[in-house]
Amino acid sequence: MFVQELVLRQRTEILHALCSSGSAEHLEQVLDILLSQGELIWEDYQNIQVPGRTLYTNVRQLLDLVYTKGVDTCALFYAAVKQVLPEEQGAGLSLSECCSNLEEKEEHQSTSTQTLLTQRPSLVSKLQGCIDDALKALVLSGHFTSADCDEVRLPIHTPSQQARRLLDHVRSKGESAAKVLLQYIQQKQESGSLLNQEKWTPPKEVLKYQKKLSSSVSAQSCFLSTYGGTSHMSLDDIYTGGQLELAHNCENINAPLGLEDVVGAAGTVNEEADTVLVSGDAGGGKSTLLQRLHLLWARGTALQEFLLLFPFSCRRLNSEQREMSVQELLFQHCCWPDREQEEIFQFILDHPHLILLTFDGLDELKQSFSDEHRLCCPTQRAPVYILLFNLIQGSLMKGVRKVVTSRQEAVGPVLKKHLRKEVLLQGFSPSGIDCFVRKHHRDPTVAAKVLESLQTNTALLGLCHSPVLCWIVSQCHKELLGCGEGSPKTITDVYLMILQHFFQHQSSLKSTVGSSWLQEHLNTVLHLGQLAFEGIGTSCYVFSGTDLETCGVTEKDICMGFLIQSKDMSSTHSKRFEFLHLIMQCFFAALYIVLSNNTDRSTIPKLFELQNTRETGLRSSTCFGACLPSTDQHEQALKGEATSAETPNLQITATFVSGLLSQRHRSLWLHCCPSAVLEKRVRQVVRCLSKGLQKHFKSIPQPVAGEKKSMHAMPGFVWLIKCIYEMQESRIAKDAMSKLEVDHLKLTYCNIGPVECTALAYVLQHLRNPVGLQLDNNSVGDVGVEQLLPCMHICNSLYLRNNNITDEGIRKLLAKGIQCDSFQKIALFNNKLTDACTQHFSHLLKTKRFISLRLGNNNITEEGAKQLAEGLKHNHSLEYLGLWGNKIKDAGAVALASALESSTTLVWLSLVGNGVGSVGACALANIIKNSTSLEQLWLTENCITRTGVECLIQALEHNTHMKSVWLINNDLSLEEVEELKQRESRLIF
Ligand code: ADP
Repeated sequence: MFVQELVLRQRTEILHALCSSGSAEHLEQVLDILLSQGELIWEDYQNIQVPGRTLYTNVRQLLDLVYTKGVDTCALFYAAVKQVLPEEQGAGLSLSECCSNLEEKEEHQSTSTQTLLTQRPSLVSKLQGCIDDALKALVLSGHFTSADCDEVRLPIHTPSQQARRLLDHVRSKGESAAKVLLQYIQQKQESGSLLNQEKWTPPKEVLKYQKKLSSSVSAQSCFLSTYGGTSHMSLDDIYTGGQLELAHNCENINAPLGLEDVVGAAGTVNEEADTVLVSGDAGGGKSTLLQRLHLLWARGTALQEFLLLFPFSCRRLNSEQREMSVQELLFQHCCWPDREQEEIFQFILDHPHLILLTFDGLDELKQSFSDEHRLCCPTQRAPVYILLFNLIQGSLMKGVRKVVTSRQEAVGPVLKKHLRKEVLLQGFSPSGIDCFVRKHHRDPTVAAKVLESLQTNTALLGLCHSPVLCWIVSQCHKELLGCGEGSPKTITDVYLMILQHFFQHQSSLKSTVGSSWLQEHLNTVLHLGQLAFEGIGTSCYVFSGTDLETCGVTEKDICMGFLIQSKDMSSTHSKRFEFLHLIMQCFFAALYIVLSNNTDRSTIPKLFELQNTRETGLRSSTCFGACLPSTDQHEQALKGEATSAETPNLQITATFVSGLLSQRHRSLWLHCCPSAVLEKRVRQVVRCLSKGLQKHFKSIPQPVAGEKKSMHAMPGFVWLIKCIYEMQESRIAKDAMSKLEVDHLKLTYCNIGPVECTALAYVLQHLRNPVGLQLDNNSVGDVGVEQLLPCMHICNSLYLRNNNITDEGIRKLLAKGIQCDSFQKIALFNNKLTDACTQHFSHLLKTKRFISLRLGNNNITEEGAKQLAEGLKHNHSLEYLGLWGNKIKDAGAVALASALESSTTLVWLSLVGNGVGSVGACALANIIKNSTSLEQLWLTENCITRTGVECLIQALEHNTHMKSVWLINNDLSLEEVEELKQRESRLIF
């Protein structure tokens, strides 16, 4: 006990000894030692080292903590002070009598991150002379970005502080970063050159090659690649950051991901793998994102840890017929070294960490990914797709980082096995849309007008979440602003708008009086349509002159601007063409299906039966190909292996077919196609949609007795719903929904974004009875929430866990929800909510009957809890309240407890992981005392001590209906737990 008292008594002296020099170094050294001895945990450290606070306050905080931790910690504290202070400074303290011995902690720690802690004092001193080189090692291994380095190297810090920051940063990056750092230190020690080591530079030839490669990459990427029309748009002028997210939940990462995080260490799930996948919808900006990374690298402003970057387009690789080696692939498809090819290639093989390969559009490759054919030798020739698959899985060029883009639907489990991580590109946020439109229109008044028109058409705003549609809408702003009544709502509307725009702007034809714009350009539509249609059926996206000729595509058709000349780095091919964007190709294919006289009558049914083909394993291209008037070339293509990636293309095409055959557009086709043929095609589509949905409804299992009838959407359900939306005929939506009888509709992990929400709301609003709508783990976001409003009245419960929703989305959702009688439950676990949304919940709770409110894992603090409590005071219906993983602390718990004290409805309350202490627990005990309904109280992962538990026990003595109080992981010793357990069996520790 003596040493503990001494900490109190000598407080002034200790303060003086540690602070009088004015430097924080002594305090920090003491903290290093206490951390390494395990006397302080990380949270303690952070509580003491609060940035911006005075040194004296920090030391006082440490003294308080050391005192409360007890005799042993006090003894170790004295030992640390003794070690750190020069003798004369420690003279006034009774250091020798009371300090215990500092042990050298064991070298063999179970993890490298632990070693960083246990060896902290010596690591800090070892690192001081070589911070820059250590950072370089971390950058090269992909764990640190240049932003991380900047943070460590902040000039206001002393070298030892920089060393500590480096250690802390490395710890936060995880085990593999820690390993790299320890290895680096060990190597340096072994070579005896911790200080003053020489700078390494790559060989001259390699540097020359790098220059050539980067200027070629820069030239390739400085203009937006799929921008149509005559003027090129510079990527710098138009690039707008899209929303990036990790596909796997990653607890350590709260800040939004930046561009460099795509390649960096954030969110790595498989350290052994080299390939990062960027996935997203067609038109979601994947190619543009890669292009941006290429440009930044070539300019020397990002990804500088990579000396060489080789960009590939899978679309172009499709047309490589030769077998090649990796060396040939790199040099012939990207950049040819003028001299010393062998040396440069050897350098690449010897320095895998300095090389980055990117493959855009894996889903456009003719072959589906497989890891069956193994190849390890970089000089062995093989078909290009085999090289690609082996590069991705790392059997070729292990250690070289690869970034691959693909649509999400096309990524199978075999590929997932080989991924380092997956990053989802989620389109533009509302502010991204705003920013893009302003960049697109230099004239601010035009930009403001376009934005205003988007605000008044929420369906269109939802579509603009997709960058390609945002581009189209901006491109066609004159048409958009002039369209009043018939303003675009569906994707088909938007593409028709651009069709008209291109024809009217790029054609020199004078309009013939009385004929529609479409009629005038019907031949172009049919020629391009046939080219697109045949290409979609055979995974062909790059067309040769012969392909164009076969479909009758003329020079005049090309001039319209829908086809662009294909860029090919190897430039050995003759002129090749591709559509402005893959979706544009699908659109033309759909136009062809609707307008052509040459398609088979089974084309539409086959197109819509895709889901069956997936399930029966029948290749979609073969099925669809049978409808094509065959040409030698296409027959040949059909015989080749097809890829499951075609299904999404065919789905988009089918969606357009539905839209084009909508009643709203029928007048456009007048004089372009016999109306009897059109009518028949409409009937075919309607029948296919109805049959498709029936199939889904039939798959709903009968509910187990006592449970609700629930339907989990099968693949293709959302797509069918989108087709119905494109038709914009409420009769069809009503018909479809009249046959759906479920209580719960589960659409989790269905890749639902704002566009899908619009379609869902349009169709689901016709359900006859309210349902529970479960949309967990999608990317609904605030834009999507707004799109869902029209179907709120049929939702009795809404599950939106993990959907990137912010307070603004909630504000809009609840403003509508309050008016909907059946809406009584909501789950919003893991979104981006803060105290700014609780006033809306409070209002909801005051205003209407509401049963379940789950707001776990958001950012709600005591202020938010107080707001909620205001609402709860006036509420007489809430049964479930979940606030797991927020930060409401004691003050929040007290406020909630006083509001819920005499609740007669609350059955379940969770405040797990909220920093609630004994004060909060004692307040909550009042609910147990008084409430007649509460059955379960969850207080796991808090900091409740014995005092708090005593209050809970006392309260339970008066309560017989309470079933359990969960108290796992609170501030209780093992002995206390044992004893308290005996006293009250409903307490669970
Ligand atoms: P994906 O590769 O996912 O199919 P793209 O990158 O080809 O999509 O994007 C389609 C179009 O959308 C581009 O041509 C461009 O007009 C626009 N676009 C996409 N991403 C961005 C972005 N980040 N900034 C500006 N425009 C973009």
